[in-house]
Amino acid sequence: MASACGILGNGSKTVKIHHLIKAPENTPESVSFRESWDANRPVTVYKTPENLPDGTPCTAATVILRSKGCAWWWKSGCTFCGYFNDVRDDVTAEEMFSQWDFAKKSTNQFEGCKMVKVYTSGTFFEDRENPPEWQETVLRETYALGLHLVIEAQAQMCTPEKIKWVSERHPGCTVAIGLEAYDDRVLRFHVNKGFTTKQWHKAIEMLRENNLRVKTYLIFKPPFMSEGDALTHTTDWLLAVAPYSDEVSVNPMNIQKRTVVDRIFRNREYRPPWLWSLVEMIERSSDKLEKLDCRVIVHPTAGGKIRGSHNCGKCDSDVVSAIERYSVSGDVMEFSNLECSCKSHWKAEIENDTSLPLPLGFGTFRRGSVLDIVRAP
Ligand code: SF4
Ligand SMILES: [Zn+2]
Repeated sequence: MASACGILGNGSKTVKIHHLIKAPENTPESVSFRESWDANRPVTVYKTPENLPDGTPCTAATVILRSKGCAWWWKSGCTFCGYFNDVRDDVTAEEMFSQWDFAKKSTNQFEGCKMVKVYTSGTFFEDRENPPEWQETVLRETYALGLHLVIEAQAQMCTPEKIKWVSERHPGCTVAIGLEAYDDRVLRFHVNKGFTTKQWHKAIEMLRENNLRVKTYLIFKPPFMSEGDALTHTTDWLLAVAPYSDEVSVNPMNIQKRTVVDRIFRNREYRPPWLWSLVEMIERSSDKLEKLDCRVIVHPTAGGKIRGSHNCGKCDSDVVSAIERYSVSGDVMEFSNLECSCKSHWKAEIENDTSLPLPLGFGTFRRGSVLDIVRAP
């Protein structure tokens, strides 16, 4: 009996792997760190060059609010998402209004901007995350100011009533959904996304029915995937989701603190994607993408840094700039003059990943000697 108890547990509540991995967020230091944020101020407000839906260049303001955070994250959460580091689960409706006022004041009512991205580290129109009266104010005010609004959502939070409600308050706005991967197994086992491709299709149908714009995020190189597989799969996913989207943004993995990906990265079991892989993905898909009415953006957050998509260190800034330029021009000629000795290293890794039976890949960031990894059963 005693040994059976040893195997079956001692009767106390089971601990999910998610709680073990994300335990740091519950430490007193982590809680006091989060609670040290001023809940009357947004995380950040900044302006960037952007394109309006019709392609006209404009200035966009991005407002990232210190919200209660993503309901899915508090329940389980995506393996790479570190947004919880910036949220406060005790934020009040009043504080959300003060944050919004601060954003308007600091930009002088979004002076010079034609677009505003309002990000809440979760689903904008999820009532458990953000007070409905606050959602309503943001939707109506941005519409009255003539700004194109971009908000984010999880697919399963899109209900016919909510999407209709949003479209009545800000017709034609863009809803960005972090699909990450167009593959249900990857969504479940690599990303822990909390919804399926079927739910995503349903959500975008609802958005279309209400004349809202669809933006889709994909992640390049989710955890537990080799570089070679990431290149093959993300290229396929990009081509599969582009016909359904007005815009696709491919986000190369960057390591956010205290996430599952952070753990395996610190164990030297994960390397963020090579910048060469992003260039290759764009070059492989560009012919087909050209025929579609879909803008493709690749933005290497922390590009060139060790926690972001990177190459050898010497060529990183040139390759990052070329990728950024491509996101504006959509022209693959941006990559024509890029060369570096590290490219052959990257190429060998891709070839090995796609020809040898190593599910986690051949990357130099795998622990142990290469020979042992190859010999491992
Ligand atoms: S759905 Fe979005 S905000 Fe929520 S855990 Fe996943 S990536 Fe983070
Ligand atoms: Zn290089």
